[in-house]
Amino acid sequence: MALAEDENGLAIGLFNGLEVSFPGTQAKDLYGDVLMIVPGHKIASRLIRQKSRHNTLLFTEQCDQLCVMCSQPPKRIQDQWRLRFYKEAVRLADPGITIGISGGEPTMQRELFFDLIQDISENRPDIGLHILTNAQHFVDADIPILKRIHERTDVLWGVPLYAPNAEIHDRVVNKDGAFEILMPNFYRLASAQAKIELRTVLTGLNYPALPKLADLISKDLFFIKVWAIMGLEPIGFAKAFMGDLFVDHSAFFDPLEHALDIAAKRRLVTTLYNIPLCTVPARYRKYCADTISDWKKKFVPECESCSQRSSCTGFFEWYNNDWAYAGVHSLGQTGEAL
Ligand code: SF4
Repeated sequence: MALAEDENGLAIGLFNGLEVSFPGTQAKDLYGDVLMIVPGHKIASRLIRQKSRHNTLLFTEQCDQLCVMCSQPPKRIQDQWRLRFYKEAVRLADPGITIGISGGEPTMQRELFFDLIQDISENRPDIGLHILTNAQHFVDADIPILKRIHERTDVLWGVPLYAPNAEIHDRVVNKDGAFEILMPNFYRLASAQAKIELRTVLTGLNYPALPKLADLISKDLFFIKVWAIMGLEPIGFAKAFMGDLFVDHSAFFDPLEHALDIAAKRRLVTTLYNIPLCTVPARYRKYCADTISDWKKKFVPECESCSQRSSCTGFFEWYNNDWAYAGVHSLGQTGEAL
């Protein structure tokens, strides 16, 4: 595609005689990006942005779970057509970057999914992968295939586990039997030498059970690479169930504190994702990581005078007073409240 700019510097693409516009995008911001343009579907997507640390391929919008707080609710659409473009997009990516693969649930399209990750592993072993999966669809026969992939490619598998028992976990993911399927699949992944980032979103349903979950993970899933405890994203299904789901950890930190203490004692590596620094007590801020993607991150008025802003994850763009953490406050150089 030939890229030109209009009198305001905005990008105009010329592709097979078609003019493609990129509303509000400067041409210089597209240099080095990998775009997918499908005239038949009237789609132009920036699959890989050269300047972003957060490139994710939406593999499919289908999913077999219906998590109560899903930020990207699944759709029953046939979207396999775009998967064939992903191989090409990854081959064009800059060296050494990490690309996310998410959904929906990527393993709903098992054959295409394995085809993609095998292709990346064989042709671009320099590319790291961060794959989000509910781990409901692995079988023993996958173990040798995954093992070969892991020998060449750095893959981090982000797998959610919401509770220490089926009762709560299955309720969160809205699928009977999900917990029973998930637990052996952790062992299948581990047998394939997978690096696992175990992900737990904080909701009102699982918050009280967090210390028990820390206990279970540190005893039965001690082989995981990291336990990511995540702040809820106030969008998608979560908006419909706000009353049940929103929990203000800054006002009631005890379950999180106990969980972090159990994990530390058992040497489980733990991280807090999407959680602003000022909303946790000072001695637990070392766990907070800057994880909210640049395109959906914002700061609030309290952040203007805060000295920790550059290392703070901030808030999701859709954070608002309905979900406000009581503990948000500016911090000084040594982390003291201003
Ligand atoms: S006030 Fe500071 S620590 Fe709190 S959310 Fe804003 S930038 Fe982060």
